[in-house]
Amino acid sequence: MAWKVLPLLALLVLGGMAWSMQALYQEREKRFRHQAERELQAISHLQTQSVTEWRERRWSDAMALSDDAAYAYTVARWLQEPSEPRTSQVLNRLRILQERARYTAVYLVDTEGRLRLSPGDGVQGHLPVQEMQALRNALTTAQAIPVEMRRDAFFAFPFFGLLAPLFDGMDPVGAVWLVSDVRATLYPLLEYWPTPSKTAESALVQHAGDAVEFVSPLRHRDPALPPLRLAMTERSDPAVQGAHGERGILYGHDYRGKEVLAMISTVPDSPWIVLSKVDVAEAFGEMRTREWLALSLPISLVLLLAGAAAAHWQWRARRREQKLKLELQRHMRWLESGQKAAAIGYFAYEVGREEFLMSDMANQIYGLPPSGRMPQRQWIATLHPDEREQILAVHARAIQQHTPLQIQYRICRANDGQVRWVQVWGDHETNSDPNHAARMTGTVQDITERKYSEQQLAHYRTALEAQVRLDPLTQVANRRALDEAVTREWHRALRSGAPLSLLMVDVDHFKAYNDHYGHVAGDRSLQQVAQALSNAVGREGELVARYGGEEFAVLLPDTDVPQAVALAQRMLEAVRALHIEHRASVGRPHVTISIGVACIHPRLLVPLAARHDAPPGAADSPSATDVAQALFEQADTALYNAKKAGRDQVMVCASAEPLPSLPATDP
Ligand code: GH3
Ligand code: MG
Ligand code: MG
Repeated sequence: MAWKVLPLLALLVLGGMAWSMQALYQEREKRFRHQAERELQAISHLQTQSVTEWRERRWSDAMALSDDAAYAYTVARWLQEPSEPRTSQVLNRLRILQERARYTAVYLVDTEGRLRLSPGDGVQGHLPVQEMQALRNALTTAQAIPVEMRRDAFFAFPFFGLLAPLFDGMDPVGAVWLVSDVRATLYPLLEYWPTPSKTAESALVQHAGDAVEFVSPLRHRDPALPPLRLAMTERSDPAVQGAHGERGILYGHDYRGKEVLAMISTVPDSPWIVLSKVDVAEAFGEMRTREWLALSLPISLVLLLAGAAAAHWQWRARRREQKLKLELQRHMRWLESGQKAAAIGYFAYEVGREEFLMSDMANQIYGLPPSGRMPQRQWIATLHPDEREQILAVHARAIQQHTPLQIQYRICRANDGQVRWVQVWGDHETNSDPNHAARMTGTVQDITERKYSEQQLAHYRTALEAQVRLDPLTQVANRRALDEAVTREWHRALRSGAPLSLLMVDVDHFKAYNDHYGHVAGDRSLQQVAQALSNAVGREGELVARYGGEEFAVLLPDTDVPQAVALAQRMLEAVRALHIEHRASVGRPHVTISIGVACIHPRLLVPLAARHDAPPGAADSPSATDVAQALFEQADTALYNAKKAGRDQVMVCASAEPLPSLPATDP
């Protein structure tokens, strides 16, 4: 479970980190962008201010000239009557102006626009058309009139001019034309950039009809080319946006198609727009690299640490795995030796493939080479032919019904054909995976030795049990066996309704025999008598037992009185026929016996409960103990009678207390 969650957790942590880094980066980028914008704004502001001052200085120069009534008077006097001193007076003023205020050219023009005087050379001709227009305006309004920057055939350089009108009192005298070469005085103000930059530039832009004109040179444009003009429709260019009235910081794509950060501001009382811009790539590129470096450092560090932790974890896991492997091998060796000692092998039966996967010990038990696998047909071949069908049925049932397998069977070992007993325990592997092949795993144990021991033990037990029920001297049943047989046969008689008879047999004058012939001879004759009695019975259930001393009892199931008497007679004959000499006997020269006969008939039983002297709660039929006691008593009484009547004869119980159901019968 943990293995599945861990990568997900790591992914989540990384995702979270990336997200927070991204947020941090965006926050910092915003701050930096703001800073870059402020920087550009400040630079643009400075440049706009310089340009404004440049223009205002020229304006104020022109105004000061127009306001100078004395100079106008001097000029008027010179125009009416030129003379050397007057010329130099007029020129002096113009020269001072040109040199101090760094004008490229300064001309005195008359009201007709003719160039009349200048500190420089070549003073002839007329004002150009635009300056003529300005002159007329200036003379009409008595105000200095600027002529916007342009290129003209008049000068070899782009220039900016101002016409300062001169009035002598109320009379127009002419004007002074102040000419500035913008390359020398104005452009440097825009070219100056306080911080080193590869792409930053400022330019003066002017709205001209349906286009925007760049009136100052551009850093990234060949100066030999005519000034750049952009259509008013090119809205993505910051210059065009400025011409459309946008001011302040904005973003767009400049004439090179590069994304730029731009600042637009205007020069007051002029058509000029100052456009300052820098490539976004430069403005933020370095910052981006720096920021990403700064942000990626902790990420790399975290990744490095995570990598180190993962490597360490893997190293530990591998060590743990190796340790476990070693431990597993050790356990496997123990298991193998344990299996060897207990002669237990294990197997896995693959149901689909009908194949056994066998441990070495399992193969050894079946007498197979240690191949690891045993096809089902090979297994079938090892089964003992007598049990093969039965084993296969049990095996198939366990597989089909998914029940545990417990079976003992014989095999004929594959390598030497020896018949061996094996015990197999198998159970089904439980696996929730539906694709998992059905398997039964279990153990197989060679139990041949145990099986033989068990068989021997059973044999001994049977013998012992027989021994316990045998009289050691005569080898007929003893008293215990007799008691059990009486109980058993009584229950059977109850079920079948057949009569049950008992003979009590006693050797006549046996004390005398012992006294005369000795105990050893007595024992021998007892054995002979017992043998004769045994020979006389033979039906199933008939039993001769030594009752005690020289007395025997004969139990006769399914035998009525006449049959019992007949058998008793045969027994008398059999003993007589032994011709065991008995000189000490009274009347007869051989050993004889006397027999008392008793019989009980379940069908003639008077139910005990119905009797007048029955104890309260008496059962319907007498108990086996009661019956045995009554039967023995009656037989004993009959025997007593036989003794009394002269011995060597059979008597049926007549005078004794009768059994509840047994009518007294004479022989
Ligand atoms: P009766 O005709 O009245 O039966 O006379 P009896 O002498 O046979 O009767 P009694 O009961 O007085 O004597 C039984 C004798 O059987 C006593 C004993 O010496 C003898 N006896 C009992 N058990 C054994 C035995 O196991 N071996 C031998 N040799 N004699 C036994
Ligand atoms: Mg006796
Ligand atoms: Mg006797």
